[in-house]
Amino acid sequence: MKQTITLLVTALLMMAGVQTAQAQKMKIYFTSGEPVGYDIQKIDRIEFEEALPVEEPEYVDLGLPSGTLWATCNIGSSGPEEVGNFYAWGETETKDTYSWATYQFCNGSYLTMNKYCTDEYYGTVDGLKSLEPADDAATTLYGDGWSIPTKEQFEELVNETYTTCNRTTQNDVEGLKVTSRTTGKSIFLPIGGYRDGTSSYDTNSGYYWTKDLYGGIDNLARSFSVEVDSYSAWDSKSRRCGLNIRPVRAHVAPPTYNLCPDDNHPHAIDLYLKSGTKWACCNVGANSPEDVGYYFAWGETEPKTTYTENNYFIRWNEVSSHDELKPEYDAATVNMGSPWHMPSYEQLEELQQRCRAVEWTEINGVKGVIIAKKLFLPVSGRYYGDELDYPYTPTFWTSTIYSSERTPNMPNPSWGGAYIPSFYLGESAWDITHLPFYLGLPIRAVCE
Ligand SMILES: [Zn+2]
Repeated sequence: MKQTITLLVTALLMMAGVQTAQAQKMKIYFTSGEPVGYDIQKIDRIEFEEALPVEEPEYVDLGLPSGTLWATCNIGSSGPEEVGNFYAWGETETKDTYSWATYQFCNGSYLTMNKYCTDEYYGTVDGLKSLEPADDAATTLYGDGWSIPTKEQFEELVNETYTTCNRTTQNDVEGLKVTSRTTGKSIFLPIGGYRDGTSSYDTNSGYYWTKDLYGGIDNLARSFSVEVDSYSAWDSKSRRCGLNIRPVRAHVAPPTYNLCPDDNHPHAIDLYLKSGTKWACCNVGANSPEDVGYYFAWGETEPKTTYTENNYFIRWNEVSSHDELKPEYDAATVNMGSPWHMPSYEQLEELQQRCRAVEWTEINGVKGVIIAKKLFLPVSGRYYGDELDYPYTPTFWTSTIYSSERTPNMPNPSWGGAYIPSFYLGESAWDITHLPFYLGLPIRAVCE
């Protein structure tokens, strides 16, 4: 988001009640210290840079003893099958030529290392054997908690006690599929060879950096390799070469979130969405973010004890205009009052675009997902009859009726239904799908 000086100066001068034509100087008042004056004639423009955090990558829980979570994609890729970026070891930017001449941590040759050196034969000894956070492309890109895997983390990943590994083809791309024996989740490591100089080599294999120096031979660093019929966490490559990176997230104790300023719920949570939509901090009928609140059949405004086709009498062509629920049938508006209402499909889609990767966490012993670090959705499941289905995932109703025109790629139900978010236990990725009207779901309100 950028604004020009014209707009800003005009705004400042209007506030001061001064004519723009008369103004020659602009003063900027800092929160601490003296104001600084600038000659307006000499200013070309002022830019405000958007400082939204880089979105964290999707990851899966493979049930590994260390608690390590593995990203589902390489750095610089837009999907699991894309190899993404190539980095020299310890560098955080990609480049065209991978050589000692361009390598950040030496002075032009492998005998002039100036960082990560344990033997004076290779350069200036500093004793560092593992990448520091500033030289870890995963940490610099995604923030604390994310890093390039250690050799031990790769060893754990391919330990047969915890996972099965298969060289396979996924969407026409070859790679190694690693599947957890406990959670059933998997990751796919595509093969893309490696870069040396300006060329690609060994494209029948895949090479991934670890964050560890080889040990004893300081121009080498540990790598993980996927060969045609084997894989190894004991490989190494010259530090100058360009390899792929699959980030990991260290197991961390669930963070404490400051979700609400006080106990006067509901609060309108600002996620800086373009539409101006704010999401309620808790579900309809809930007393706190972790409280699941009431369950409703779609278009009903009171909870029931059982939710079936047989006790659902809403005629959706009466309660909705086009495919949106009318306010008198909106459980959020009825129970919480205006301006609260149920989110539309577009508002749910905007939320998903803002935060494609959710975090699973626990608040006061209640599992759920955190969206954009600010919005908590407790696990709720949904009622069918008087049974709670999928009690380990959150969801809620939107106000929008499914239509094949709106979402042609979604399976067409034989019954009528409305759109909902669909989360998967332990997975960061989430989808939008739909459910039949008569099921009992919580509702998370929005306002503008
Ligand atoms: Zn609140």
